[in-house]
Amino acid sequence: MESGKQKILSILKTVNDPEIPVLTITDLGIVRDIKIENETTEVIITPTYSGCPAMDFIGVNIRKVLRENGYDKIKITHQLSPAWTTDWMTEEAKDKLRSYGIAPPVSKTFDKNYLQNIPVACPHCHSMNTKLISQFGSTACKAIYQCSDCGEPFDYFKCH
Ligand SMILES: [Zn+2]
Repeated sequence: MESGKQKILSILKTVNDPEIPVLTITDLGIVRDIKIENETTEVIITPTYSGCPAMDFIGVNIRKVLRENGYDKIKITHQLSPAWTTDWMTEEAKDKLRSYGIAPPVSKTFDKNYLQNIPVACPHCHSMNTKLISQFGSTACKAIYQCSDCGEPFDYFKCH
């Protein structure tokens, strides 16, 4: 039973996040649990952002990769509570984000005023002298910042 779960988890480690292809769904901490009952494999995932269109895509990709590995009966359950937080992201994931040019989340606290107040390091030159340009970047999960030192704009992964 446990080894079956481990095997599935290692397969899921190959599924990339559609929005940030350098990260896998296990890097993000989206996969909460795996249940194997009779012949059915159930994967419990928590969306990073409610209403994130990427989540449907992730479900499709999970089914695809499991089917390729010989699992036929697959059930994907979305668990909305407790809500995903950036704290579930691995340190390795944060490093990957940085090298991808996206500033990783600084703190789990997220509210309207929070983005204005937190210092976000520029992923290019590591300067803390950055400013918020837009609450919404290329996706709803990201905000756009600009570095005042190197002048480069960059995405900040802000989810919750
Ligand atoms: Zn910079």
